[in-house]
Amino acid sequence: MNKQVYAASTLSNPVTIGGTGGVRSLTIGGDSPISIQTMWKSPLTEDSLRSIPKTLASLSSLGCDIVRFAVPDMESADLLVRLSKMTDMPLVADIHFDYRLALRCLEGDVAKIRINPGNIGSRDRVKAVVDRAREKNAAIRIGVNSGSLPRDLQERIQADILEGKDRAIARSEALAEAASRELAVFDELSFNRVIVSMKASSVVETVECNRVFASLHPVPLHLGVTEAGPLIGGVVKSTLAFSTLFAENIGSTVRVSLSDTMENEVIAGREILSECGKRTGGVRIVSCPRCGRNGFDVHGFVSRWQEALLSLNKEITVAVMGCVVNGPGEGKHADIGITGAGDSILVFRKGEIVRSVSLTGGTQEIDRIFREELDKL
Ligand code: SF4
Repeated sequence: MNKQVYAASTLSNPVTIGGTGGVRSLTIGGDSPISIQTMWKSPLTEDSLRSIPKTLASLSSLGCDIVRFAVPDMESADLLVRLSKMTDMPLVADIHFDYRLALRCLEGDVAKIRINPGNIGSRDRVKAVVDRAREKNAAIRIGVNSGSLPRDLQERIQADILEGKDRAIARSEALAEAASRELAVFDELSFNRVIVSMKASSVVETVECNRVFASLHPVPLHLGVTEAGPLIGGVVKSTLAFSTLFAENIGSTVRVSLSDTMENEVIAGREILSECGKRTGGVRIVSCPRCGRNGFDVHGFVSRWQEALLSLNKEITVAVMGCVVNGPGEGKHADIGITGAGDSILVFRKGEIVRSVSLTGGTQEIDRIFREELDKL
């Protein structure tokens, strides 16, 4: 994925994170590529610490640029500090309420802190976090959620609705106003290494609040539909929201939030960017939906191979087809293809049949042959 080229994101101020210790440097905003994030789905523990860098490396090869960790207590903060010295992945600490957790995380090579100044407390506490972030060249993401708006903005929404304003518009404007207020706190402290996210669980509100905010502030925006749901629903919502905003050049970094794996969040993010023309290159998989004509298990093959293929640093198209009705046709356009053909499977490379293998050898034999041909590309 490292060699892939992304189109420019919205021309907000660029904010560079990482670049300290062994952490790789990454710019969010400006004319930089739109980055892809996910969030670690379990608590950080002493036992898990050793295996996490390997998983982060796998996520990276799938196209993930940033990983966020929940930091609910000082033990998690201590572990995140240690982890930040074990990986080159830029890490984000997700902190609520206790500013001391942010200060502790910033003692390591944590690249970004996600906080909401409104729930951190006094201005002195926010200033302490800002001063430490400035010292460490770290960034701060202001995260505002539709579920936790200040009371006056909640009242404003009700008043706007009573006056006939569309509910989604009223809520979106309030969300953008809440984020603008939080941003003002950092402006007063002359801290501009800021990224903003406004999360609503509806597509319309997500689009509208980001539109409103982007028209007011040249600050990089982290896009995400919160509590988007399981795989299919979540991907649909995120695709609708991101593609609408990308068309208006809004959005510098994305997370597809799913009740599903981190890997699928990353894969969904890269597919959306790719289909929106914001990313080129990498591996493209075309596969048939399968029907009664299928001669081999397309679904099984795709699920066995998807992550390995998408992790390759190659610019290729891979075709996986169930039968000869469409298999050879698709194979012509693919760099490598595999298709069922009666009792056998055929492997194509650039339109030429290069292998014919009996299905009696089972999936292991199919995978071995496919691997051999893939390695020749
Ligand atoms: S390629 Fe063959 S198995 Fe796959 S959907 Fe088309 S006809 Fe069905």
